[in-house]
Order: sequence, then C-alpha cells, then structure tokens
Amino acid sequence: MMPETAPYVWQETIWESLVKALRKHGLPHALLLDGERNIGKTDFTRALAKLILCRSPADSFPCGACQSCSMIDAGTHPDRLEIASGGNHVSIKVDDIRLLSSFSQRSSHSGAARIAIIPEAHLMNISASNALLKTLEEPQDQVFIILTSSEPGRLSATVRSRVQRIKMRLPTFEEIKGFVPSQLEKGSTSEFLRLSKGKPFVDDSQLSDFGTSHYQNFQECVLETLLGKKTSVELQKHAVKLTPHLAVDEFFLIAAEILKSLFIESKNSVEKSYFSSGQIVSKEEILNIYFEENSDFKKRQFSKSLAGFIASVESTQKNMKSNSNPNPQLLLDSLIWRWQRLGSFFVRENSS
Ligand SMILES: [Zn+2]
Repeated sequence: MMPETAPYVWQETIWESLVKALRKHGLPHALLLDGERNIGKTDFTRALAKLILCRSPADSFPCGACQSCSMIDAGTHPDRLEIASGGNHVSIKVDDIRLLSSFSQRSSHSGAARIAIIPEAHLMNISASNALLKTLEEPQDQVFIILTSSEPGRLSATVRSRVQRIKMRLPTFEEIKGFVPSQLEKGSTSEFLRLSKGKPFVDDSQLSDFGTSHYQNFQECVLETLLGKKTSVELQKHAVKLTPHLAVDEFFLIAAEILKSLFIESKNSVEKSYFSSGQIVSKEEILNIYFEENSDFKKRQFSKSLAGFIASVESTQKNMKSNSNPNPQLLLDSLIWRWQRLGSFFVRENSS
C-alpha cells in the first residue's frame, strides 16, 4: 500500500489501536510518536491525519477519493496544518507555533476535525515550546495535535506530560526487506540493511556514497589498519572520499561487529545473519586467528579497548548531529588516529 494512506507493516498494531480509539471518540488530543529517525513516523502521522479527515473511510483506511482526501493530496486542506521541520529547518520557531495556536482556535471548515502535525518536535526552541504548552493546556474539541520525535528527551518535561506518548518500533529484518532503495544495486541489499541499522529509510547524503567503491575501499582499509597492515594516513586518504557521517557510522558498525563476534558463540544466531555480509566473515576469521591461542584475559583487554573506542564513536556521532557545528573532518581524523592505536595494541598483543 502507498505510504500516507496506510501504515507500514511494522506500524499496524499501533494503527489499529488508534483507529479503535478514533471510532470510540477517544483519540487523545495530543500524541507524541516517539522512535528513531528514518522509520516512517511522519508518514504514519500523515496517514492518520488523512483517515481522521476522510469523509468516507474504507474499513480502517482513508478512501483516497473523497473531497477531503483530494484536498490533502493537493496540499490545500484547510483543516490540516503541518509545521515545516527537518531539512533546512534547524529549529521550530515561536511564529510556527503561533500559527498552530490560531489554527486550533478557529472553527473547522468542514465542521469536522482539525489536525496539526509537528514533525521532529524536539526542534522547537524554548519560546516555541512554551507557546505549544499553552495550546496543549486548552484542548479544543475535535482538534488533534500530533508530534513526532526521534529525540523526545529534548522536549520539555511539561510538554511531554501533556501528550500521550506512543513508542514506534524498528521494523524486523523481514519487514524491512522490501524497502531497500531502488537506486542501489542488488548486491548491496545486505550492506544497506547493515548500514541503515535496521531502518527502512536513509538520508540522501548517506545514499550518495553508499555501495560505491570508495565505501568498500574504506571498509577494507579500516580492517587492515586494525591489523597493522595500513597506517592512519592511508586510512585518511580513503576516508576523505566519503561524507564524514558515513565514515563514522561505518567505524561504529565494524567495531560493534568485532566486539559482538568476540562474544557470540553460536554461528547461526539471528543477529549474526542480520549482519551477514562479505565483511563480517573476514572479521571473524581475523579474530579467530588472533585469539585462538590467547587467554581470556587478553581477549577481555582487547574487548575493553574496543568498547572504549565504540563509546568515542558514539560521542562523535552526537557531536556531529549537534547544532554547535563542529568540524566533522577533524572529529573523524581523531577517530582514525584512535583506531590505529587500537590496532597497534591488537598486533602487539598477538605477536607476543
Ligand atoms: Zn477520503
């Protein structure tokens, strides 16, 4: 089914419970859909808005043909408001929310409901958040405000206390398979699943590099640097050909996979097949060769260093996302340097 008309398959349970509430006139005035980026929260919200406004819903879905559905498709429905956020919008400002407040107070054109959508609501600045709070404190009949957020912790506690929070889950491996972007080559399907960390959608900036030879060369060089066969300078040369975000994400995945394979014994576990790509096999081989003869003590030491590295990758990812706008290339360089140091530890430990 088309997005924005029906939920994705991993959202069906939540959809059904909201439809039930809607039928009993028990849909909460304010909802917060909370879940990771790129899992289809906003699409879900748009589909729900369409259903609420549809004049002749078919079963649990909007008909897609009535006047209301047509106006929504054309972007001209007067009883539906979506605040622009994400992309070039670094914050949601108070004027946006004032617009929403007056929207929620005027009477509905169709005599039915009015819906306001705030995607990535944590982007509201403080005055916007205070303005929204006033609107939430005086709920209007038949007005529904739907927020989505991938970082709900950044919403003010008072706003959070005024909305009904719904947790959106990640799709399973099977559910995600049909969502691999068509512009990718067939061979990179499992790589895509690995890179997107179980999310069905990725940012365009990630897609542009993904699956290219630059990307594969970088992956190989990361492993070779760990084994002391390549230096940080060589790794840097490969890294600059990628967007820093992609390179950092790849560091995270490789380090996490190595750490995982140190502890997972079962060869056929679900988690393992989830990450199965050409790379993981060679990483396992590396570890088997180097740790076979080694004591648990050394294995623990290496795991500890690896876990420390993963923690710094995570804080780098956070830094890159934050609005303080640090230099991503510098952050990446520092990770590359740490990785080489980790590699020299690894090689030294194993040749002794
Ligand atoms: Zn309709």
